[in-house]
Amino acid sequence: MSEASSKAIFIIVDGIPADVLESTPTPNFDDISGAGGYTRAWVGGEAGGESESPTVSAVGYNSLITGTWSNKHNVYDNDVNDPNYAYWDIFRIAKKHDSSLQTALFSTWTDNRTKLIGDGLPEAGGYKLDFTFDGLELDAGRFPHDLQSNYIRDIDATVAGEAARHVRHAGPDLSWVYLQYTDDIGHRHGDGPKMTAAVSLMDEWVGQIWDAVKAREASHAEDWMLVVTTDHGRNAETGRGHGCQTERERTIWISTNHNVLNANFGPDAAIVDILPSIATHLGLSMPDDIRTALDGQSFID
Ligand SMILES: [Zn+2]
Repeated sequence: MSEASSKAIFIIVDGIPADVLESTPTPNFDDISGAGGYTRAWVGGEAGGESESPTVSAVGYNSLITGTWSNKHNVYDNDVNDPNYAYWDIFRIAKKHDSSLQTALFSTWTDNRTKLIGDGLPEAGGYKLDFTFDGLELDAGRFPHDLQSNYIRDIDATVAGEAARHVRHAGPDLSWVYLQYTDDIGHRHGDGPKMTAAVSLMDEWVGQIWDAVKAREASHAEDWMLVVTTDHGRNAETGRGHGCQTERERTIWISTNHNVLNANFGPDAAIVDILPSIATHLGLSMPDDIRTALDGQSFID
């Protein structure tokens, strides 16, 4: 009897403070966490230390996908002018481990692929993602930009739907889904009913992907690890801003269906722990200099 093949997918839903997530009815998040676990966690590196990293979106994404803080990956803002590709992202690690592993990215922000991953760039290893679905925010004909960010809502819905479809039909080995709408609503309206409604929408979209994962497990010999997280909190005063080192901005959360979690899965877990956890689940080996440079540790054994 052959073992089930291990698959992993991580979803970043942008800028949802832990207290907002916890006070909003989210049946799908709850279902995922009920299968595995939920914890508050942190982002931002060592406050006041060498690894302090702004609680800014692209900084958080890159801390997740490289398992390191800004002093290593060199992303300090959303411009991403000079990322340090010496700290490999998880897709590069996967491809180096086994080039037959199928990778996928579904994203409302194209720079995740072109800049953070550096897809296909020689200096980023030259590897290409096998399946990508992004660029919709650059298509103002199909998604006319509006001041209420309804176009981002519509793009997120499309991206999540495509992620669910592709997972269901193709079952890629390692996938990243990035959804943005909650951050736009946070910046525009701060804490309150509009943010709560946006989080409810996120819950529906994540639920579509979770359903696809469960459908794969029901029909294939596959063992899926799903991780859902956010890239930063928001300021305590209004819930509009972020970027500084206050507790609410540094506080994130992690939800996973993985049901064997070690003692590291708790409030001391950080966004940089997600890479080593997924690498553990997938059984990825990595070069010693990449492994020893990681700033996190796995929350699964
Ligand atoms: Zn963000």
